[in-house]
Amino acid sequence: PAVIHAEHLGKTYAEGSLRTPVFDGLSLTVAKGETVAILGASGAGKSTLLHLLGGLDTPTSGEVYVVGQKMSALSDAARGALRNKSLGFVYQFHHLLPEFTALENVMLPVLLNGTSVQDASQRARALLESVGLGHRLAHKPGELSGGERQRAAVARALVNRPACVLGDEPTGNLDEKTAAIVFELMLALNREHHTSLVLVTHARSLARRMDRVLELHEGKLRELRRDEV
Ligand code: ADP
Ligand code: ADP
Repeated sequence: PAVIHAEHLGKTYAEGSLRTPVFDGLSLTVAKGETVAILGASGAGKSTLLHLLGGLDTPTSGEVYVVGQKMSALSDAARGALRNKSLGFVYQFHHLLPEFTALENVMLPVLLNGTSVQDASQRARALLESVGLGHRLAHKPGELSGGERQRAAVARALVNRPACVLGDEPTGNLDEKTAAIVFELMLALNREHHTSLVLVTHARSLARRMDRVLELHEGKLRELRRDEV
């Protein structure tokens, strides 16, 4: 079954009399283990789409299914639990909690699942080691370099072994070399664990490395041919 399936998705932001239609009738299916890049100009609606796929916002029309579950049919609590268990999120900025160490930040999603502190600690530690941060467990975000913070954010996104990671410019805030390292890490984790990846990116060189490249333009999602990327 598809990891994510979106059907005839539409979104119009409405504030008072101001209406901003972003897109209407978008459909998208992400298979298990598949990697998908989403390109598009600023304001095209990429973040909006990612928010809808991740159940962080509600579509105006259409449906999103995550691992076969219809998001609109779930209670807020059930949707939150499904998100924490089956999806991982990585943003342009790391959004780590500043008062917690790298280890504690990565443990949090596991603890939210009701796992014991000991198991959570073990899993978080193993994952931080696999992203090359085994020597940074006790560092707080402010004590990590930009690349290290983003690798910690990747570890946090993956620690519950999600079916899919949704990334909004996950390497957009890093220099080229560090961006490449973090991106390769995400691809390696994708290959190892068959975690699907849906990444919004501006970097065509990164998009080219993914199974499919979609472009969001004037409210339409179009699959690009290899020679167009
Ligand atoms: P992208 O990620 O491709 O840059 P966004 O999804 O952020 O695009 O935005 C798409 C459109 O929706 C833009 O015109 C933006 O101004 C508008 N928009 C985004 N978020 C909101 C919001 N919370 N309220 C109203 N309009 C919004
Ligand atoms: P970069 O070379 O990527 O710019 P930094 O110069 O920010 O990295 O940091 C170099 C190393 O020192 C990093 O591995 C980081 O973890 C560590 N570090 C940076 N600031 C602190 C700090 N305040 N306390 C402890 N370790 C730190």
